[in-house]
Amino acid sequence: MGVGTTIKDRVLSGMQPSGALHIGNWMGALENWVKIQEEFESYFMVADYHSLTTGYHDTHDLPQKIFDMVVDWLAAGLDPERSIIFRQSMVAEHAELHLLLSMITPLGWLERVPSYKEKLKELAQRDIHTYGFLGYPVLQSADIVLYQAHKVPVGQDQVPHVELTREIVRRFNGLYGEVLVEPEAVLTEARVLPGVDGKKMSKSYGNTLSLGESEEALSQKIRTMVTDPARIRRKDPGHPQLCPVFSLHKVFTDAERVRDIDRSCQEASIGCVDCKALVSSAINLKLHPIRERRSLWKSQPDKVEEILHEGARTAKVMAHQTLDAVKDAMHLNTLT
Ligand code: SF4
Repeated sequence: MGVGTTIKDRVLSGMQPSGALHIGNWMGALENWVKIQEEFESYFMVADYHSLTTGYHDTHDLPQKIFDMVVDWLAAGLDPERSIIFRQSMVAEHAELHLLLSMITPLGWLERVPSYKEKLKELAQRDIHTYGFLGYPVLQSADIVLYQAHKVPVGQDQVPHVELTREIVRRFNGLYGEVLVEPEAVLTEARVLPGVDGKKMSKSYGNTLSLGESEEALSQKIRTMVTDPARIRRKDPGHPQLCPVFSLHKVFTDAERVRDIDRSCQEASIGCVDCKALVSSAINLKLHPIRERRSLWKSQPDKVEEILHEGARTAKVMAHQTLDAVKDAMHLNTLT
């Protein structure tokens, strides 16, 4: 998930705890987050309440998933000295504002969010005909407005959620006065990487190359990766633009070599085995510092826990201010 909110110099982004991350998450979101933290006051949220909306059935491995994901965040370069890294459920204001906003959100608004029906179909094997799942976008609205954001950097699929947030904010402000900031969606391009089967890299397809993988395990997976289906024999000319291995080259290999590979593949002067070995080396080279930091953080669970506690303490300050203003406006704070 990508909840992101920006107000002038502040950004909040979130991700559901899905355990150890893969290089698609790294290139699709984390790399961008590392840049964000350079320029903005950054809040990075473990969206654990959100994960319950589709995964409430079995929560036994939630702590492990959160730990593994945060370790990967830190390994990828999120810096707790510069960013606020926190767990959503440790800042109770998210839940309380969600409750208050849910009071004013008509059911019809939620039922027409496109991702609602899509996910119901996609996850037909799970029972997610729940109040919590329908209300997911209200929780996301609460996440956004708690930090008084003006702009929300999102992918195309998240635009309806921001639109809903705007409607909720307008309704709230219309009922109780101008308290909440109406956020605006800013479209961001997320890089999508292919998995070893050529489909989009995703844990649910079991086709990932994970950040925690050893060099050898990663190279082995790439050796089995699908290529241009028309290139059956070594002497057949290839079509790099149709090959998922080439898509990885475009992300991890330097531009000059990518041009060479493009030409050599079309001339059949490079074989897929060698081409794959080149991409494995390029990925392993880039992953080297991440693997080192990863094993360091993995050996310090107490420190990781402390980072989440410290982050929650800081996030709470802003969240509390907003919630207080909301409750004042709704006459929930005092008797007068
Ligand atoms: S040589 Fe490389 S780019 Fe060409 S088909 Fe084989 S793996 Fe793909």
